[in-house]
Amino acid sequence: MATVSLVQRLRSSTFVLVLLGAGISAPSDIPTFAELREWRGYPCQWLNSAAAFEQQPVLVWFFFETLRQIMCRAEPNDAHRSLTELAGMKPHLLTISQNIDDLCERAGHLPPQLVPIHGSIFMMTCSRPGCTYTSRSPSLEPAVPSLVLPTYDISNSKTPLPTLEISELPHCPACRTHLLRRGVVRYRELLPAGSLDAIDRWFGAVPRVDLMLVIGTSAELSSQFIDDARLRGASIAHFNLQYQDQIVEDEDLFIQGDVSTTLRPEHD
Ligand SMILES: [Zn+2]
Repeated sequence: MATVSLVQRLRSSTFVLVLLGAGISAPSDIPTFAELREWRGYPCQWLNSAAAFEQQPVLVWFFFETLRQIMCRAEPNDAHRSLTELAGMKPHLLTISQNIDDLCERAGHLPPQLVPIHGSIFMMTCSRPGCTYTSRSPSLEPAVPSLVLPTYDISNSKTPLPTLEISELPHCPACRTHLLRRGVVRYRELLPAGSLDAIDRWFGAVPRVDLMLVIGTSAELSSQFIDDARLRGASIAHFNLQYQDQIVEDEDLFIQGDVSTTLRPEHD
């Protein structure tokens, strides 16, 4: 770890909260929505919206299949492994992940200590409100054969998108009326109640928060978790490439750099 004071703080901490963002997966070559900006000329935020799925489900399915292939081929890096190791040593640690790539799970981070608040690109869920069908597959194979990506890059709007009818997209086997979609939280959608409940239960069960690690995120939409940890007495340590002045306070630790390097474990 980067500083002596942080190492000491970690050793003496029992109740540790971790907030993860895209910065932990960037060294695994997973682009963020902000880096991608647009795909085939469409803003990525819009592609991850209910409106986009309603209007252009084939386009949205190909967008997510492209991302899913990148994420499926990516490997966890030293930061994922360090965090997994830390979670193994600290049974009261909870990680809140904003990532949809499952790299923490693949590094061995156990689900009871991990809350992926934005879902997973490897999950499918029904697009019908109220239908609770979900399934999960980490396979490289797409959900249906017609979604196999062509050998050319379809992120460029000058290349043709494979022809696909809506009827060929995956349909929900439970309600049999609606399309399935990727199980990620969409733009402007509320966070899943189950995830928020798990975080509330953790805050309710711990007597205090000793330390919070904010890793690779500007926490634009999740600064409430940092505020809650501060209220419970937490010291905050931020790991990021860029200084995040909107969330870093004077008393916080800020460790600048590639998190796969700054979060590498020290073995005595
Ligand atoms: Zn359904």
